[in-house]
Amino acid sequence: MKDKRDIFSRLRNFLGHKDGFGGCLRCGDTWNWKKHHNISYAQGRGMFPLCEECYRSASVLVRKLYVDKLIGIWIANGLNCDEAEKSRRGAYIAVHES
Ligand SMILES: [Zn+2]
Repeated sequence: MKDKRDIFSRLRNFLGHKDGFGGCLRCGDTWNWKKHHNISYAQGRGMFPLCEECYRSASVLVRKLYVDKLIGIWIANGLNCDEAEKSRRGAYIAVHES
Protein backbone atom coordinates (compact mmCIF):
# COMPACT_ATOMS: atom_id res chain seq x y z
CA MET A 1 0.00 0.00 0.00
CA LYS A 2 1.49 3.31 -1.11
CA ASP A 3 1.11 6.33 1.16
CA LYS A 4 0.41 9.92 0.11
CA ARG A 5 4.08 10.85 0.27
CA ASP A 6 4.80 8.35 -2.50
CA ILE A 7 2.32 10.04 -4.81
CA PHE A 8 3.92 13.44 -4.22
CA SER A 9 7.43 12.01 -4.57
CA ARG A 10 6.51 10.40 -7.87
CA LEU A 11 5.02 13.64 -9.13
CA ARG A 12 8.11 15.62 -8.13
CA ASN A 13 10.36 12.98 -9.71
CA PHE A 14 8.30 13.07 -12.89
CA LEU A 15 8.73 16.86 -13.06
CA GLY A 16 12.43 16.52 -12.24
CA HIS A 17 13.02 14.04 -15.08
CA LYS A 18 11.00 16.21 -17.43
CA ASP A 19 13.27 19.18 -16.60
CA GLY A 20 16.42 17.08 -17.04
CA PHE A 21 17.42 16.67 -13.40
CA GLY A 22 19.46 13.65 -12.38
CA GLY A 23 18.73 11.87 -9.17
CA CYS A 24 19.69 9.39 -6.51
CA LEU A 25 20.85 6.07 -7.97
CA ARG A 26 19.33 4.20 -5.04
CA CYS A 27 15.84 5.63 -4.41
CA GLY A 28 15.41 7.44 -7.73
CA ASP A 29 14.38 10.79 -6.20
CA THR A 30 15.50 13.74 -8.33
CA TRP A 31 17.67 16.75 -7.47
CA ASN A 32 14.96 19.32 -8.12
CA TRP A 33 13.60 18.57 -4.65
CA LYS A 34 15.79 16.00 -2.89
CA LYS A 35 19.09 17.02 -1.26
CA HIS A 36 22.08 15.19 -2.71
CA HIS A 37 25.11 14.14 -0.66
CA ASN A 38 28.27 15.51 -2.19
CA ILE A 39 31.25 13.11 -2.20
CA SER A 40 34.35 15.22 -2.67
CA TYR A 41 36.65 12.94 -4.70
CA ALA A 42 39.29 15.51 -5.73
CA GLN A 43 40.16 19.15 -5.07
CA GLY A 44 37.10 21.16 -6.11
CA ARG A 45 35.32 18.12 -7.54
CA GLY A 46 32.32 16.33 -6.19
CA MET A 47 29.99 13.54 -7.23
CA PHE A 48 26.58 12.66 -5.88
CA PRO A 49 25.36 9.16 -6.60
CA LEU A 50 23.10 9.23 -3.54
CA CYS A 51 20.71 11.57 -1.78
CA GLU A 52 21.53 12.65 1.78
CA GLU A 53 18.99 10.19 3.20
CA CYS A 54 20.29 7.15 1.28
CA TYR A 55 23.91 8.13 1.92
CA ARG A 56 23.32 8.39 5.67
CA SER A 57 21.62 5.01 5.89
CA ALA A 58 24.12 3.16 3.67
CA SER A 59 27.20 1.27 4.86
CA VAL A 60 30.61 2.22 3.45
CA LEU A 61 30.43 -0.87 1.20
CA VAL A 62 27.07 0.17 -0.23
CA ARG A 63 28.30 3.76 -0.74
CA LYS A 64 31.22 2.35 -2.75
CA LEU A 65 28.83 0.29 -4.90
CA TYR A 66 26.98 3.48 -5.85
CA VAL A 67 30.25 5.33 -6.49
CA ASP A 68 31.16 2.50 -8.90
CA LYS A 69 27.72 2.66 -10.49
CA LEU A 70 28.03 6.42 -11.14
CA ILE A 71 31.57 6.08 -12.49
CA GLY A 72 30.30 3.31 -14.78
CA ILE A 73 27.79 5.81 -16.16
CA TRP A 74 30.59 8.38 -16.64
CA ILE A 75 32.69 5.80 -18.53
CA ALA A 76 29.69 4.95 -20.72
CA ASN A 77 29.49 8.70 -21.44
CA GLY A 78 33.14 8.92 -22.49
CA LEU A 79 35.26 9.39 -19.35
CA ASN A 80 38.65 7.75 -19.88
CA CYS A 81 39.70 4.89 -17.63
CA ASP A 82 42.65 6.66 -15.94
CA GLU A 83 40.41 9.55 -14.88
CA ALA A 84 37.73 7.08 -13.78
CA GLU A 85 40.21 5.18 -11.63
CA LYS A 86 41.53 8.39 -10.03
CA SER A 87 37.98 9.55 -9.28
CA ARG A 88 37.07 6.16 -7.85
CA ARG A 89 40.08 6.15 -5.52
CA GLY A 90 39.31 9.67 -4.29
CA ALA A 91 35.66 8.83 -3.70
CA TYR A 92 36.49 5.61 -1.83
CA ILE A 93 38.61 7.64 0.62
CA ALA A 94 35.86 10.25 0.99
CA VAL A 95 33.09 7.75 1.82
CA HIS A 96 35.12 6.59 4.81
CA GLU A 97 35.53 10.11 6.12
CA SER A 98 31.96 11.40 6.22
ZN1 LIG B 1 18.11 8.32 -2.28
